[in-house]
Amino acid sequence: MEIKRNILLNPGPATTTDSVKMSQVVSDICPREKEFGDVMEYISSSLTKIAGGDERYTTVLLAGSGTAAMDAMINSVVPDKKKILIINNGAYGDRMAKIAKAYSIGLVEIKYDWCVFPKISDIEQALKQDPEIDCIGMVHHETTTGMLNPVPEIGCLCKKYGKTFLVDSISSFAGIPFSIQEYNIDFMASTSNKCIQGMAGCAFVICKTESLLKTKSYKPRSFYLNLYSQYEYFSKSRQMQFTPPVQILYALKKAIEEFWQEGAQNRHKRYLENWKTLILGMARLGFKKLLPDEQESHILTTFHYPDSTYFDFDRMHDLVYKEGFTIYPGKIGGKDTFRLANMGDINCQDIEAFCHVLENVLKEMRVLP
Ligand SMILES: *Cc1c(COP(=O)(O)O)cnc(C)c1O
Repeated sequence: MEIKRNILLNPGPATTTDSVKMSQVVSDICPREKEFGDVMEYISSSLTKIAGGDERYTTVLLAGSGTAAMDAMINSVVPDKKKILIINNGAYGDRMAKIAKAYSIGLVEIKYDWCVFPKISDIEQALKQDPEIDCIGMVHHETTTGMLNPVPEIGCLCKKYGKTFLVDSISSFAGIPFSIQEYNIDFMASTSNKCIQGMAGCAFVICKTESLLKTKSYKPRSFYLNLYSQYEYFSKSRQMQFTPPVQILYALKKAIEEFWQEGAQNRHKRYLENWKTLILGMARLGFKKLLPDEQESHILTTFHYPDSTYFDFDRMHDLVYKEGFTIYPGKIGGKDTFRLANMGDINCQDIEAFCHVLENVLKEMRVLP
């Protein structure tokens, strides 16, 4: 079967290989069979390894999009009557704060404009001022802008002050090599459909088991999205408590095998080359980046609109979409921007082909002469 290959430059889901797509076509199976338990066990232990965790870490699988993992992580690990400090410098940091509010969890929000790099001293000061803060939550790669936030530095603060560290690593996991241990992370959320290059539908939280076990006595705030109950159930039965996204998990298993084949360093290198090709190509077409190079994740880039009255983002989107490329609007209030991701099963030839198509589109729109 021939599947049309689309190049997704939106911030996830990302382009997948045909082999990952095809691995979803399997015989029907009851997910409570041992055979499927083996699949989930493989996925869970592999994800822990990819995160740089050893036998003291464990991965809890959930059905849902990335936000389900953020939700489960936040609602499950902040003790009653304690607070979570959340660093908000983008739509996803903002989402973390909204989740805390939805559960009426005590919240200290350190808010920045959506292209401002967080200041470590602000966080340290807030920790000193409020002893009720038990957890710190932040986004690693803030996909709103493409900014790589200072997770290692905040990890050091968490160690120094004995705080539980929660990281949304949804758009950095498997795309940027880093270690959950080295960064002192207790809980990190990610999903099947970004840099691991699987299908959308499986969310997961990689946990330091010791920190997860501490939550055993906490009164659950959610029945469905509770990390400890899911962990306990899976440990005892090697089954998910509720129906898992069966086919998505077969695709994730395949995506993990392909990740090991490519290697973590090579995947990072490919993404980096994609990024370099992209920013060079875009600069050639006259586009300016939002962020300075040193704050970039190299996985997604925000560009300003060009200074031309002929420019129309929706028209540009539709014209490149027809050629098989998907681009994405910006999310920063007040600034006219759009975003291009370079994750997924794509390479520099794809990016070059995109820049070529974009050049013709800009000429057709009369943005370029
Ligand atoms: C994609 C993404 C999410 C999750 O979004 P869903 O639409 O729920 O999958 C969360 N945080 C970050 C940083 C992301 O990039």
